[in-house]
Amino acid sequence: MAKITFLGAAGTVTGSKYLVEAGGKRLLVDCGLFEGSKELKERNWNRLPVDPAAIDWVLLTHAHMDHTGYLPKLVADGYRGPIYANPATRELCGLLLPDSAHIQEEDAKYAAKKGLKNHDIAQPLYSAEDAQSALALFRDISRKDAFTISPEFSVKPHDAGHILGSTWLELTITENGKQTLVVFSGDLGRYDQPILRDPESPSRADYLLCESTYGDRDHPAGSVPDMLAQVITRVAKRGGAIVIPSFAVGRTQTLMYYLRELEDQQRIPHLPVFVDSPMAINATDLYVRHCEDHDLDFSREEAKGKRDPLNMHEVHMTRTVEESKKINEMVSPCIIISASGMATGGRILHHLKRRLPDARCAVLLVGYQAQGSGGRALQDGAKYLRIHGEEVPVRAEVIDVGQLSAHAGQDELLRWLSGFSAAPRQTFLTHGEPIALEAFRAKITARFHWPVTIPAYLQTIELNG
Ligand SMILES: [Zn+2]
Repeated sequence: MAKITFLGAAGTVTGSKYLVEAGGKRLLVDCGLFEGSKELKERNWNRLPVDPAAIDWVLLTHAHMDHTGYLPKLVADGYRGPIYANPATRELCGLLLPDSAHIQEEDAKYAAKKGLKNHDIAQPLYSAEDAQSALALFRDISRKDAFTISPEFSVKPHDAGHILGSTWLELTITENGKQTLVVFSGDLGRYDQPILRDPESPSRADYLLCESTYGDRDHPAGSVPDMLAQVITRVAKRGGAIVIPSFAVGRTQTLMYYLRELEDQQRIPHLPVFVDSPMAINATDLYVRHCEDHDLDFSREEAKGKRDPLNMHEVHMTRTVEESKKINEMVSPCIIISASGMATGGRILHHLKRRLPDARCAVLLVGYQAQGSGGRALQDGAKYLRIHGEEVPVRAEVIDVGQLSAHAGQDELLRWLSGFSAAPRQTFLTHGEPIALEAFRAKITARFHWPVTIPAYLQTIELNG
């Protein structure tokens, strides 16, 4: 009998990994890293309940680390099968996975240099070579067309509107001549946003796995450009720097798009922008190559006399540690974008250490901040942030830009669910913290009267049982 085991994103937002078994074959849908609290991160070091060598295929919904960041470890531990993803997801993973290895290696080096013992970053989970070995196993699948993985499994991807290349998946499981349709929501994006397309509507599922990141709340209303214009002008006027924890691709381009517009309209001053990452790239090429994923028309923008709608006037890509250190010397107003997006590691920690004690500066939180992460502590108003064993006072202004979220809010999740023409036999809520999961279950039960289950970490559920 076909079954699903929840190897991650069960009762938490990170570590998405769903093991689907049918006809003696094993398919892993997503292969994410646990991020956030120390307890969660420790799960990355635990042995999987299944031998990676015994998994036949991996299939990805999108490139975010909490859906792909465990791949190098899976491969280092013996996985040798193909990793199926669309070209945009493959390209993004080509940036993200080595970046993740770099972050871990730099953090480990720093910890060793400073003699930080028993530190959870004392050794990297995987190396840059492990990331390359994982990348060598990627196989392209179509952005939209159905794809047969094996006699047991076939998949039809749909646009999820969350990041470049993001999809939700219809997985058809065939066993003993019987077909079962399982929908994996992946991460769902927003409706009516600039750049990315709206999520495609689903129609039917026997079983549904639905993300619940914002299952308990809607995003704040209000104009993003107005809010950004106020913040940037205020911080620049008082001579501060604006620090943004974020990977160089994704939210960063939405943010740059807004800021570029504000610069052109002369609603904010022209500030230097530092994209500080060992893998810093000009992401615009990616968007030009994957135009099927978004509704930006570069030729139209060019015709309007704009060089690049995704970049501000002065952008510096810093790759080396030395270049990165130089940013510390910057005393005039600037914008610093650096990973990790939840301030759990990486160069962003050095920038926060430098700027948090300065009341003129501001930290913009533009993505989801998981429980236990540095970003969540800042969001919750922490007076001190522990960085590399030091208590760093938080005097900088912390601004949560919920409007810039890449995730559907509660209303948008319900809008997506309303696409189903009939109730799934069972809906599993995943990828949410306990409060969001419970609130979302109550909402679905009240509105649709569907049976809803919140699976536990490592729980196995038999389908058609
Ligand atoms: Zn995501």
